[in-house]
Amino acid sequence: MRVIDMHCDTISKIYYARENGEQAELRNNSFHLDLEKMRNGDYFLQNFALFIDLGKEKDPFQTCMKMMDTFYSEMDANRDMISPVTRWEEIENNWNQGKMSALLTVEEGETCLGDVRLLRCLYRMGVRMMTLTWNYENSLAWPGKGGGIPETEKGLKEKGEEILAEMEQIGIIPDVSHLSDAGIWDVLRLTKKPFVASHSNARAQAPHSRNLTDDMIRAIAERGGVIGINFCSAFLDHFGEGEIPVSRVSSMIRHMKHIKNIGGIGCLGLGSDFDGIRGNLELDSANKLPVLAEAMGDNGFTDEEIRAVFHGNVLRLYREWL
Ligand SMILES: [Zn+2]
Repeated sequence: MRVIDMHCDTISKIYYARENGEQAELRNNSFHLDLEKMRNGDYFLQNFALFIDLGKEKDPFQTCMKMMDTFYSEMDANRDMISPVTRWEEIENNWNQGKMSALLTVEEGETCLGDVRLLRCLYRMGVRMMTLTWNYENSLAWPGKGGGIPETEKGLKEKGEEILAEMEQIGIIPDVSHLSDAGIWDVLRLTKKPFVASHSNARAQAPHSRNLTDDMIRAIAERGGVIGINFCSAFLDHFGEGEIPVSRVSSMIRHMKHIKNIGGIGCLGLGSDFDGIRGNLELDSANKLPVLAEAMGDNGFTDEEIRAVFHGNVLRLYREWL
């Protein structure tokens, strides 16, 4: 089953490995995701996030530029397998040429320093999706409160509203993963087009601020947006003290069934968070994605529904934006 995954941190992982003097490549590595594993997992398109950790990086724009160099250098080095896409036709062209596609995304809205000119430059450099925040408050908005506790009062700031409007205008898909509850409702109020929660699950199935309430799932679905199932154990299940967290396929299925019941099959997608998550994962590698498709089939999802979740729903959204 062809895979579109809306979120991985592999480029950042390669970037930091090299900063530490280690060797790391996109084609073949020891991480969750590389191009060979993707090919074996029947990947069609991967979103590659440039993840900027404001706790580590004093100049997010500059770090983003260096990370972008990592992304494009890897794209150049692996032209036989994958090409970056910024327009719908390029996705189709790559597919017809037997190549996978890479969509560039940013995880941390502060990367544009609250300046629409820098945001437009990110767009010109190929960025087509961006989270407003990561786990820190920034000049645009507030994230969850930390420790998995939702933030229901503080949402988007004035700068955030300005940046969000420009994103919708020029064509950078807003990504509400990591954003506070109040912020997600602000995005719903202030935008018209469908948007994504690229790597978030259902809060009714695992109580964590990174997951979405049923009301949010319903609202995102009604808008035509897509929610990517995250493989992180903490967003799949609640583990008590002394329990060893495991990311289980059965838990992913539970979240998928819940989100389907609340928002319909059309709002479900994949957002593995590969190379951004740690610990014990049943799906610990991109080549294991067929295991998830099979488990969905065994649990009552039809072939048509599996196709929708694995790529159809995200493709629908990309056709509208790209
Ligand atoms: Zn994330």
